[in-house]
Amino acid sequence: MNTPSRTLAAAAAALIAAFVAFPAHSQGVVNVYSYRQPFLITPMFEAFTRETGIKVNVVHAKKGLIERLEQEGANSPADLIVTADIGRLTDAVQAGVTQAVTNATLEANIPAQYRDPEHHWFGLTSRARIIVASKDRVAPGAISSYEDLADPKWKGRVCTRSGKHAYMVALTAAMIAHHGEAKAHEWLRGLKANLARRPQGNDRAQVKAIMEGVCDVAVINHYYMGNMMNDKNQAAWAASVNIVFPNQQTYGTHMNVSGIALTKSAPNKDNAIKLMVFLSGDRAQQLYAEQNFEYPVKPGVPWSALLQSFGAYKADDLGLGEVAKHRKTASKLADKVAFDT
Ligand code: FE
Repeated sequence: MNTPSRTLAAAAAALIAAFVAFPAHSQGVVNVYSYRQPFLITPMFEAFTRETGIKVNVVHAKKGLIERLEQEGANSPADLIVTADIGRLTDAVQAGVTQAVTNATLEANIPAQYRDPEHHWFGLTSRARIIVASKDRVAPGAISSYEDLADPKWKGRVCTRSGKHAYMVALTAAMIAHHGEAKAHEWLRGLKANLARRPQGNDRAQVKAIMEGVCDVAVINHYYMGNMMNDKNQAAWAASVNIVFPNQQTYGTHMNVSGIALTKSAPNKDNAIKLMVFLSGDRAQQLYAEQNFEYPVKPGVPWSALLQSFGAYKADDLGLGEVAKHRKTASKLADKVAFDT
């Protein structure tokens, strides 16, 4: 039976459930839209709630959160957007769904290179784009820079994921920042010419390909080494390669971030900024970074034992705001050299 009163009651119950699950305007909450997986962020949010009494509501999604913010507009319940990669952070800013935050603690905790010069996005963890090289087939020291990847001596020996993926686009954008567009174009063409196979798969798939003998060197985000070492099905992939932190003699290893931005319509703005500040502090920085073998952005926060075992290295100090400026051109270069085909 489906009487009007029953339908109404069901609708009311659903409404109450939705409200309880995600109250937009009550005191003592902060609402987060997250592209990052629950296991990465839940521990910090729980620590924040224990410390402040402010409840953190999270909506997780793999895609569509920026579009959702655009559609919800001023009525969005979301206060913060949490995501990985400078690409997604700047996409949110360009979509007009964020607002600037000027906060002395955030600026003291997060180095300038890892936050938006316009104050819209803030990096919370950092990741190095490293080269991995076959232990069997590449002598230590034989490859030491991103520029080397385009050297004809590596012809048919390099694997990468799509040149249009955010991680590769950011690396190419950094090459543009360092060398100018013409040289970056030449570099990408050279790298493309050295590929052992058409770009495919994620970063880990490139390491598997090295183990299988498909290629000898690849470029990946460093934390995937930690992920693979801790996965019994993938540990052998990681064990087949040496880690190279590129460009130690020049500008340093290319870095990217995961980060956070305050939404334009944030209904709980004060709580949201409290959470941002909390995430930039020592305890959350250590906890957050360790969840995914990432580096804390705050100087002086201890690295996990695994990252310490990878060793200290020179990180590129190029501002990610500068990298972001060249993303569009970088993506076009990938098309121009037909990187993926
Ligand atoms: Fe990743």
